[in-house]
Amino acid sequence: MKPLLPLFIFVDACGWEIIRHDSFAQKLAPQRKKLASVFGYSSTCVPSILSGRWPDEHRNWCYFVYDPKNSPFKSLRALRWLPTAVTSRRIFRRWLSKFVKVHLSFRGYFDLYNIPFKYISLYDFTEKKSPLQPRGMNRGPNIFDFLEEKEIRYHVSQPEKPEAANLDALMADIATEQLDFAFLYWPGLDGLLHQVGNQSPEVPAKLRVYEQWMEKLLAEAKQHYAEVRLYIFSDHGMANCDVLLDLKSKIEPLPLRFGEDYVVVYDSTMARFWFFNDRARSEITRALNEVPQGRILPDSEMKEMRTLFDDRYFGELVFLVQEGVLIVPSHMGERPIRGMHGYHPTDPQSYAMLCTNQSEIPADVTAIPDIYKLMTRDAEAAKLANQKPA
Ligand SMILES: [Zn+2]
Repeated sequence: MKPLLPLFIFVDACGWEIIRHDSFAQKLAPQRKKLASVFGYSSTCVPSILSGRWPDEHRNWCYFVYDPKNSPFKSLRALRWLPTAVTSRRIFRRWLSKFVKVHLSFRGYFDLYNIPFKYISLYDFTEKKSPLQPRGMNRGPNIFDFLEEKEIRYHVSQPEKPEAANLDALMADIATEQLDFAFLYWPGLDGLLHQVGNQSPEVPAKLRVYEQWMEKLLAEAKQHYAEVRLYIFSDHGMANCDVLLDLKSKIEPLPLRFGEDYVVVYDSTMARFWFFNDRARSEITRALNEVPQGRILPDSEMKEMRTLFDDRYFGELVFLVQEGVLIVPSHMGERPIRGMHGYHPTDPQSYAMLCTNQSEIPADVTAIPDIYKLMTRDAEAAKLANQKPA
């Protein structure tokens, strides 16, 4: 028996609105708090939690950027001759993504999504390392660098494995009593919510499954550790997509050439533009101002959200849609999906949550990067407590 185990359970997309009227984890972790998210997708929310820093500091924001000089995709240009009927198929893309990931030795999550092969060599992919590993950030350290530097023994999930397998792997590690810190990652709810939306009965059913798993895990942990500090948290929520917006069809008819006058990445809730002349900038700005489902984000607001980059690496202009609007077709997908996140952080469904068995959540924990403070604090406390001779 060891004195202390900090146990951090990350339930992807389990937003504040998802659990607000649900008894989720109330028995295990009765203290709960609404947390502000970070503007962007999981590609920025997860690194922000793991580093305690914001996108303008760690530079893990959106996946694809205009960067032909550094594009690793030049070899894929040959595929531009394949018929779209083949190359836009999800199964082909998934197979190719795996192939490219191995070929280019990307360590993180990688998906080619729906980027047209004709233009793929104009883009770079920004998450070449896994933020769930030491040295996994684009800039600066994360929690795993911290743990290695302080020689704190830890367990972290492997996101490529099924959720239940990651649960079993953690239980096995806990039984050895060699851990001072544990980080469990469950992405399944995010996938479900994208598919069925936030009102489906499948959502509370999935929450009940998570509760059973957590009860099993806690029972095991309590056999080996006198005190278990449990934290269950998320990165963002999920909005239902009730309005579809074909943004491409507003931009492509403009008398501008893609790749010569401008380049764009159509994410599912935002579009990010790069301009090569003033005419392109003014034509596109004018066209976007006529789209009522969204708005151009001013620099002041981007700065406030900590997503303004001095070098405009992720785009010179960002157009964001209102909560519930889905840009489709986009470079993220050809067809609509039921739920999406990546809206404005102050939109209701964007908020994340933190539940704990601790008697209080510190007042300075208000946004998801603040979870890092709890992780470092408790990991150091556990190392100190667990190394004392019994
Ligand atoms: Zn998601």
